[in-house]
Parts: sequence; structure tokens; C-alpha cells
Amino acid sequence: MQKNKDNFFKDIKSCLTEKQILTSVDDIKIYSSDRSKDFIGNGSLVLFPHSTKEVQSIISLAKKYNIGLLSSGGRTGLSAGATATKNEVIVSLEKMNKIFKFIPEEQSLFCQAGVITQHIQEEALKHNLIYPINFAATGSSHIGGNVATNAGGIKVLRYGNTRDWITSLTVVTGNAEILHLKNALVKDATGYDLSQLFIGSEGSLGIITEVTVKLTSPAKKNISLLLASSSISNLLKVYFQYKNKTNLIAFEFFTKEALKYSLDHSKKNCPISCEHDFYVTAEVDVQNKTDEEVLMQILEESLEKELIVDGTISQNKDQDKLIWDLRENISESIHYRSPHKNDVAVRLSNLEEFIKDLQLLISLLPKNYELIYFGHIGDGNLHINLLKPDGESDESFMAAYKKLDLQIFDLIKKYKGSVSAEHGVGLVKKDYLQFSKTEEEINIMKQIKKIFDPNNILNPGKIF
Ligand SMILES: Cc1cc2nc3c(=O)[nH]c(=O)nc-3n(C[C@H](O)[C@H](O)[C@H](O)COP(=O)(O)OP(=O)(O)OC[C@H]3O[C@@H](n4cnc5c(N)ncnc54)[C@H](O)[C@@H]3O)c2cc1C
Repeated sequence: MQKNKDNFFKDIKSCLTEKQILTSVDDIKIYSSDRSKDFIGNGSLVLFPHSTKEVQSIISLAKKYNIGLLSSGGRTGLSAGATATKNEVIVSLEKMNKIFKFIPEEQSLFCQAGVITQHIQEEALKHNLIYPINFAATGSSHIGGNVATNAGGIKVLRYGNTRDWITSLTVVTGNAEILHLKNALVKDATGYDLSQLFIGSEGSLGIITEVTVKLTSPAKKNISLLLASSSISNLLKVYFQYKNKTNLIAFEFFTKEALKYSLDHSKKNCPISCEHDFYVTAEVDVQNKTDEEVLMQILEESLEKELIVDGTISQNKDQDKLIWDLRENISESIHYRSPHKNDVAVRLSNLEEFIKDLQLLISLLPKNYELIYFGHIGDGNLHINLLKPDGESDESFMAAYKKLDLQIFDLIKKYKGSVSAEHGVGLVKKDYLQFSKTEEEINIMKQIKKIFDPNNILNPGKIF
């Protein structure tokens, strides 16, 4: 084994320049972990390829010497997918950060996989277009990492997930084959669409090296709303009204407890009373006066029928920000409590029952435990956070959250939901995959892995 490693290290020097190989222990440590916290990274080397060909050379050598490789994007992942725990050689896409061209006829951008997502958003604006996948980590995440995790975010309701915006991919498989997939064709009925397998594959089938993303026109005028309700079922009724009658872009949910953390963190006042049980921040794309009237009418009727008990509509950009900060600050506001995070999804038709069951679990927690939940309610996606009590040891906190995780995942199984809505499986959810996927599905996934990576050198030990 050591001999293989030595040979790999020797041969890689003939493929890459000295500057493309990082050997300092301290630097390797930085690249060895993503934003999850349960695993300690121990990568053995970091490589910075500049091109698809160089990625192919790295994979060929890894195959020859049976060396595990870890694809690394912006390392903002929350599932330890980009954490090296098997002394892998880390392949960072960081230097593959070129935007090659804007293709006007297709309103798309062709770029390397290591481009930071925000740079794609900024480039889109130069052409009066938007790349609409947006979330709190897009300032650091890579487009390749977004594809590998099929990232979602706040506007999935209107714009879908990353999958919906990819028109071509170049990947290098674990067999060191270069595949150019999908080729930006709007229509192609020639058998299996292999690009779809790589979207969400978390680096387990191949390293994504080039991506073409579609862009779209920005909304004409966005109006933000803040709504309060005393029941989930009423909030869902309001959601369906907005979904059916307006161009709804986002419908984000949080509890009174989550709101309190957010307000304490921002030191701002809530524009409406902060004493109600549930809140929603919503965004609607308003094209004309009639759209605006419909939006107002739903709000008034919802208040009349007491589906909501309080609400406000933004009048300007500052008020938009005030409303959205309430939702967007929640994660940061609980960070100091070292939360254990879960990111689950159920069908919308099961959401109300799921939340009822979840609240029952919360009521059974020991007094010093707090569970804060919020999320993309229109997608049936909740972020569930167990906060670490003051003075609790790491060991006993871990025992408590592992117990709670199993109870939550039992509920997920009951409602045929997902134990990972948008953060992937990585190592964090690996032991719980069977709560969302059947044995047959997992077996087929393993067979697919064998086709693209027969020597198991790409992200070994991840997902299953
Ligand atoms: C504050 C915060 C908020 C977040 N909010 C959201 C959210 O709303 N929605 C959401 O979906 N996610 C969210 N995330 C999670 C994370 O940002 C996404 O999963 C993101 O897509 C990861 O991209 P990355 O470049 O950082 O990938 P990394 O973390 O580097 O890697 C993620 C996985 O992809 C693989 N990978 C990376 N690059 C490649 C490549 N080029 N080829 C093949 N495999 C590759 C890695 O091996 C790993 O398995 C959030 C994270 C943070 C810290």
C-alpha cells in the first residue's frame, strides 16, 4: 500500500507542476473537511488540476495504484461528503474556475466546475439575466459542488433545483473516461440521459470538470410578505392560495422559537408581533397591477378567515431585506449553540401530520433540550436543529441526538420521506440511507457505482 502511494506521489509530479501539488500538513488539513463537524479530515495530499485532461491523468494514476480520491469543491457541504477520512488524495477543483463563454442563443454560460456559484450569478447579471439557484453558501460553493449535490435553496418553488439548470456536463469517470453529456440539446431521445446520474452523485461516479448552466430573465418586481399563523394547516391553506393564484417564488417557514433567536442575533425588531406560533416569509413576482391586487386580496381574505393572525407586505427594498433577514439569519443565530442539524423532506400532503408527530417528539425531550425547526415549507423540506445544552459534554449530546435522529428517521420512513432533502448523504447520512431507500434501490445504486468506478477510488466509503 505504502509502495503504491509512493509511486503515485512520484508519478503525479510528471502530470502536474509543483504549484499544483500541496504537501504542507497544515494546508492539507484545511482541504480535508467540509462544514460538517462530526468527522475529522485526514487527506494525504491536495492536487489542483487546471483542465479535464489533468483530471483524467490524476484518475488514471489513482486507478493504476489503487489510490482513493476525494473531489473537493467549495467545501460548504454539510454531510461530510467533502471530508477525507481515509487518507484520500484530495482533488480540488478550485483552480478550474474559468467562465469560458456566454452563449446568447441559448441564454447559457459554459464554464469550468470550480467556478464559485456567486460568480456565475454575477456574470449572468452582466447579460441582464439571472442564475436563480441561491442559498446562504453560494459565495463559497462551486457550481461543480452544486451539481454533485443537486443543490436547492430558497427559490426551489419557482426555479427548481440545480438539476433543472444544467444543459451539459463534462465528467471524468472512475475508469478515467471523459464523457461529454447532454450537449446542451433541448431534445434528445437517444436512450439513457447519463448526465442525470451525475447530478446528485456526490463525487461517487466521476469528477465533474465542465458545466453549462441555463440562465433566465429576472422577475419584474418582487414583493415580500411576512405572515404569522397559529397552525400549520392554516399556513398550508394560505400557501396553496398563493401558489395557485400568484407567481410565488418562495414560501419559507419558521417557528416562534426560531424567530426569537434570529431577532436576538440581529438586534432588530420584528415588523409584526413575534408572539405567534408559526411564521412565513414569502416572495411573489408581480408583473402588473392585477397581480398586486390578487396578492393583497389573498392576504385580506386570509386575515378575515383567521388563517393568518398577522401579516405585512414590504413597500421597498429595505423592508424586503428586513423581512428576509428574519429567515436567513436563523442558521447563523443558533450557530453558537453547536446545533446538530437534520435536513429532511416529506410530501406536502404529509407535512402537517409529520410536523404534529415531530412536535410530539419535541414535547418528550428533556427540559434542557431545545429543538429549532424551519425550512422550505413549500418543498416539504424542514431543517431540524437540536441545540446543545449549556454544560453538556460532547459525548452525552451525541448520544441524545443519535437517539432523536432515529426517532425522526422512523417518522421519515413512516411518511416515505427523505433523510436528506438537499445536503446529500456523504458520511453523515450514510448509516440512515435505508430509512429513505429500499434495499433494492441501494443495490442498484451500488451496481451503478461499479460501472463508473469499478475500483472504488472515487470518494470511497461515502453514500453507502
Ligand atoms: C450556510 C450554509 C447554507 C446552505 N444552504 C443550502 C441550501 O439552502 N440548499 C442546499 O442544497 N445546500 C445548502 N448548503 C449545503 C452546500 O452549500 C451545498 O451542498 C453545495 O452545493 C456544496 O457545494 P460545494 O462546492 O461547497 O461542494 P463541497 O462541499 O466541496 O462538496 C460536496 C460534495 O460534492 C462533491 N463534489 C464537489 N465538487 C465536485 C466535482 N467537481 N465533481 C464531483 N464531485 C464534486 C464532493 O466530493 C462532496 O461529496 C448550505 C451550506 C451552508 C454552509
